[in-house]
Amino acid sequence: MSQNQSRDIAVIGGGIGGLTAALAFARSGANVTVYEQAPALTEVGAGLQITPNGARALDALGLAQALAASGVTAQAVVPMDAMSSREITRFDLRTQSPQYRFYHRAALIDILARGCEGAGVAVKLGAQITALNPDGSFEANGATVRPALTVGADGIHSVVRRMINKPSGPFFTGQVAWRATIKTTKTDPVARIWMAPGRHMVTYPLIGGRLNIVAVQQRSQWAEEGWNHSDDPGNLRMAFADCGWEVKSILGEVEKTNLWGLFRHPVAENWHVGSVAILGDAAHPTLPFLAQGANLAIEDAYALARCCDAAASLDAGLRDYQVQRRARVVKAIEAANKNARNYHLSGVQRRIAHAGLRTMGKVAPAAFLNRLSWLYDYDVTA
Ligand SMILES: Cc1cc2nc3c(=O)[nH]c(=O)nc-3n(C[C@H](O)[C@H](O)[C@H](O)COP(=O)(O)OP(=O)(O)OC[C@H]3O[C@@H](n4cnc5c(N)ncnc54)[C@H](O)[C@@H]3O)c2cc1C
Repeated sequence: MSQNQSRDIAVIGGGIGGLTAALAFARSGANVTVYEQAPALTEVGAGLQITPNGARALDALGLAQALAASGVTAQAVVPMDAMSSREITRFDLRTQSPQYRFYHRAALIDILARGCEGAGVAVKLGAQITALNPDGSFEANGATVRPALTVGADGIHSVVRRMINKPSGPFFTGQVAWRATIKTTKTDPVARIWMAPGRHMVTYPLIGGRLNIVAVQQRSQWAEEGWNHSDDPGNLRMAFADCGWEVKSILGEVEKTNLWGLFRHPVAENWHVGSVAILGDAAHPTLPFLAQGANLAIEDAYALARCCDAAASLDAGLRDYQVQRRARVVKAIEAANKNARNYHLSGVQRRIAHAGLRTMGKVAPAAFLNRLSWLYDYDVTA
């Protein structure tokens, strides 16, 4: 029996996690309202990789066709030597099912928003929620909202997380990141990881002839947390000035870029208290080195709706949700943190690591995906 039937659910935050949760609850019969502080449901124009584990949940919510039409299907992950512009090896992604794809963030939000609209989800825009009462109720646009469940999907600076957890200070990782997109004629559907001592850059194509760029540099100075601080593209070019011609020619095309500091946050201790739950970046901000922040938020959202639907009480459903999710999320976050170290090696360590990748690509090409099968093959809908 569906426990979510006619339940009133409030979702705070209309990002990827919040909209996925809204859709998942609505599909199981709940009355869902999303409260989003921004005046429109959209995202800044950077890209996003949706890996098979995230795609499985989105497909199960009825979005398979729209997703296939809006993304670039990835054929490979290609580690590159950023200094020599040489391909180190190539790991084939074509066997992945569902497919691994690259999206504009705005396109993914649009697909989710249309899915929500079709499922009867109400969306209140310009609704910034500043506090919750202990019973999970809150003020929105001058009225008190008292849902059966309040879902905090309000991102890295989550108000809801702070209401149900002790304060936990983020710390600077010693890394800053730029993101940009450029016009490109190179639409080779692969994600390239350009590795250089103390730096790396990830590039992949998006629909519409653009190349998405995320470039990371180790640094002792802090940059502000949050994505929207514009920077001079000359600083980005300078950071990679000693790299090979291909990196320099890509960065030579950048006209606009944003810079931000990468901060680590501990995974929240409590993912639910009373009739309040959190998911996605609100529960576990994730560094972008494994392309999993949004994928984990999507998995959380699906799991939360399903656990609440299946358990005899809301409380039991929320407990099941945290038990099902926390260990997996911690493992993924640790794997992402480790990737940053491996990408930035220098000297002998770098030569050994590149030789190891080359050998793996020749002798055991399936080893790369086998190592990640715990991540990509996971089926939150099973
Ligand atoms: C450069 C970069 C590249 C990345 N690449 C990938 C990738 O390839 N694959 C991947 O899986 N992940 C990637 N990520 C991570 C991913 O973007 C995030 O983990 C994901 O967007 C988190 O989704 P969310 O819904 O939890 O939070 P958010 O996307 O932050 O959404 C939160 C929403 O809540 C709203 N909000 C916040 N506070 C309030 C409030 N008080 N009241 C009402 N509304 C509120 C915000 O306006 C926002 O719309 C990347 C991140 C970065 C920085």
